[in-house]
Amino acid sequence: MGLTIGVDIGGTKIAAGVVDEEGSILATCKVPTPGTPEGVVDAIADAVRTVSEGFEVDAVGIGAAGYVDDKRATVLFAPNINWRHEALKDKVEQRVGLPVVVENDANAAAWGEYRFGAGQGHDDVVCITLGTGLGGGIIIGGKLHRGRFGVAAEFGHIRVVPDGLLCGCGSQGCWEQYASGRALVRYARQRAQATPENAAVLLGLGDGTPEGIEGKHISDAARQGDPVAIDSFRELARWAGAGLADLASLFDPSAFIVGGGVSDEGDLVLDPIRKSFRRWLVGGRWRPHAQVLAAQLGGRAGLVGAADLARQG
Ligand SMILES: [Zn+2]
Repeated sequence: MGLTIGVDIGGTKIAAGVVDEEGSILATCKVPTPGTPEGVVDAIADAVRTVSEGFEVDAVGIGAAGYVDDKRATVLFAPNINWRHEALKDKVEQRVGLPVVVENDANAAAWGEYRFGAGQGHDDVVCITLGTGLGGGIIIGGKLHRGRFGVAAEFGHIRVVPDGLLCGCGSQGCWEQYASGRALVRYARQRAQATPENAAVLLGLGDGTPEGIEGKHISDAARQGDPVAIDSFRELARWAGAGLADLASLFDPSAFIVGGGVSDEGDLVLDPIRKSFRRWLVGGRWRPHAQVLAAQLGGRAGLVGAADLARQG
């Protein structure tokens, strides 16, 4: 099989790309994400038709946020789009006339990194995506581990704090409440409120109030040495690294890959994650340590991974 199309369904944009066997993107197009399930199917079909013009493509892989069933056909439930048992594979296949594979977006990103990014050379890889929330993907023995019902690796909702912060999923103390882009903003606002004298740069980048602080301000301020911004990254890293130590107990991978917008900061966030991981790794003095690596494909991982999963059929 030669070229396939990867589709990444985001909250605001749907991206489609023609991807070759080496994971290179040959053409892309983006369309706004419509508000209705029917609209999304139409938009995917349009994007696939547009991007495939002039190419011979064999299959389509779709990465979607949500629970995707074990047949990789139906989105059981999605948090952002109003999908409830949405038969996405059948609907898109009817429109585009190509075989379609549907995959959870974090699984698709993990597969992309494993095949063409930071996971190359490893057979056992666990990925976490620190975006707005926290997503995950598991590769065991070179295979994507989807679980019996297709919904494995939902790490973000592991309960790490009994009776902790309320989560959007309805539970309390979920890991993504402590390790995610949203958590980072909360840390920064709280710290800026408590010690504004240590957040001069950070507050200056926003509107001057703690509530005006956004994710991009924290990155910029940390690079300029703002103590509150740096401390906020450390707090996020502390929770992320401790969670990776738990995942090492479960999966014993040779590499963890940390992706998502937060990982764009590189060693600013990766070094404290590694430190926390070593601190909490059980028996750490006497066992081999998995590497903790930054993702390499950035925002392309999901699209490239979905296209490759479609190629594998
Ligand atoms: Zn939750």
